Amino acid sequence: MKLSSRTERESFRALVLAFASILVISPVVHCWGLDGHLTICRIAQSRLSAAAATAVKELLPAAAEDDLGSECSWADRVKFHYHWSSALHFIDTPDNLCSYQYNRDCKDENGEKDRCVAGAINNYTTQLLGYGNAASSQHYNLTEALLFLSHFIGDIHQPLHVGFTSDRGANTIDVHWYTRKTVLHHVWDDNIIETSEERYYNSDVDGLINAIQKNITGEWSDQVKTWESCSRNATTCPDIYASESIQAACNWAYKGVTEGSVLEDDYFLTRLPVVNLRLAQAGVRLAATLNRVFG
Ligand SMILES: [Zn+2]
Repeated sequence: MKLSSRTERESFRALVLAFASILVISPVVHCWGLDGHLTICRIAQSRLSAAAATAVKELLPAAAEDDLGSECSWADRVKFHYHWSSALHFIDTPDNLCSYQYNRDCKDENGEKDRCVAGAINNYTTQLLGYGNAASSQHYNLTEALLFLSHFIGDIHQPLHVGFTSDRGANTIDVHWYTRKTVLHHVWDDNIIETSEERYYNSDVDGLINAIQKNITGEWSDQVKTWESCSRNATTCPDIYASESIQAACNWAYKGVTEGSVLEDDYFLTRLPVVNLRLAQAGVRLAATLNRVFG
C-alpha cells in the first residue's frame, strides 16, 4: 500500500498504533481500568505532605512531568515484560467463604507465599522506607517501587481483586453490561466507571475526580481519619483493605449475578456508590501510606 499525502501516512500510523494498542491492552482486563487508577493517583497526589510530594517528584520518571496519575497503570503495561509481577495484582480467596486471611490466601498459583497484592504492598512499602539511604537506593529501583505501590494500593481496593479462586475473581463469569458482552470482573474494573463518566460527567474523568474529592472533604470527611489509620502504627495495612474488598465482592459484586446475567440500571445504580467509595479510600490510603513512608 502506498500512502501519498502526509495526512494519509499519519492516519495510517494512527490506525496501526490503535490496532497495536488493542492487541496489547485487551489481555489486560484484570485491573481497575486506566481511569480508575488515574483517579486514585490524582486523589492521592493532592493529599501528599510536602516531604512526600518532594520524594514522589524526585522518584517519578521525567516523562511523567510530576503527575503520578500518568504512571499509575505502568504496572499493567509491564506485566508481560516482568512476567513474575502478574500474580501481584490480586488475591484469590476460597470460594464462597467471603473472608480473607494473609497466611491462608497470600500466595501465587504455585503456592509460593507472599506473592499476592497484599504481600506486594508490604514489600514495596518496605523498599520505599529506604528512600534517602544510599545502600537501599542502590539495592532497589525505588522508582519502580513507587509505581508498583501506587498501582497495587489501587488494585487491592477493587472488590473483585480479592475474589473467589475458581472463577478467578469473576473473570470467568460472562455477563452483559446493558447490551455489551463482557465478564463480571471487567464490569468492576471499567464499565461502572465508564457508564458513570458518560452519564454524569460528559465522559470526562476530571469530572469524576472532582466529584469524589468533594465527597472526601464533605459527606465522607468524618470517616477519612479511620480510612487513613493502620493498627499498631503500621506504615500500611493491606490486610484491612483486602478484607473490605472480599466483603464488598460478596455483598455487592457477586450478589444476584449468575452466568449470563444482564446487568443494567438496577445493578449500576446500586453498585456505583461502592465503586466511588473504593476509589476514594484507595486514593486517601495511598496518600496516607506515602506520607508515612516519606514522613
Ligand atoms: Zn493491576
